[in-house]
Amino acid sequence: MAKLYFRYGAMGSSKSAQALITKFNYEERGMRVWLIKPAADTRYGADKVYSRIGLEQRADSISEEMDLLQIFRDREREFYDVVIADEAQFFTPAQIEQLREIVDRYHVPVFCFGLRTDFRTRMFPGSVRLFELADSITELKTVCACGSKATVNARVDAEGNVITEGEQVLLGGNESYQPMCHKCWKKAQEKENEA
Ligand SMILES: [Zn+2]
Repeated sequence: MAKLYFRYGAMGSSKSAQALITKFNYEERGMRVWLIKPAADTRYGADKVYSRIGLEQRADSISEEMDLLQIFRDREREFYDVVIADEAQFFTPAQIEQLREIVDRYHVPVFCFGLRTDFRTRMFPGSVRLFELADSITELKTVCACGSKATVNARVDAEGNVITEGEQVLLGGNESYQPMCHKCWKKAQEKENEA
C-alpha cells in the first residue's frame, strides 16, 4: 500500500541527502521519480535539491499557488511511480493535502523530507499538516555541539548571536542556522542577555 511519509529532522540531519538517495534507489529499479521542492527555498537555486555532502539533482520548483494534484494529473501519461519532496515544511497545508490525495487516488508513495520547527521552536504550517496526515513519521537525527540530539534550528546572526524573533521564513539575510539541543539554545540566549 502506498503511503505518505514524513521524514523530519533539524538542520544538518541529512534530509536532502536522504531524499536524493531515495530517488536513486527507485530509479535504480527503473521507476520514475517526481522530485519537487518549494520555490521559497532558493539557497542553492530554486530548482535544485542540494546536499552539503556533495549530491545534487534538478527538481521542479513549486510555488504556493500551484496545485500538486492538478500537475500530477496533467502529467499522468508520463506516470510517476513515486514523489519525493525536499524542504516540505515550506509547502502550504493545502499542498500537503494535495500530496495526500496523490497517495490515496493514484497509489503512489510520497516521501516528504523537512523541518519540524522554525528558529523559535514553532512548527511550520506545512509540517503541522504532515504530522496530521502522514502514514509514516520518522525522525532523522543530528547532534548538537555538546553531543546531545539537536532539536532546535537556531537562527544565528553574522556575529554568532542566537536570534529568537522575526519572520518564520527569512530570505536573503546574513543569518545562518545551527542545529542545537534545547538546553544549549537556552544557554546561548541567557549568555546574550547577560552581555
Ligand atoms: Zn547541546
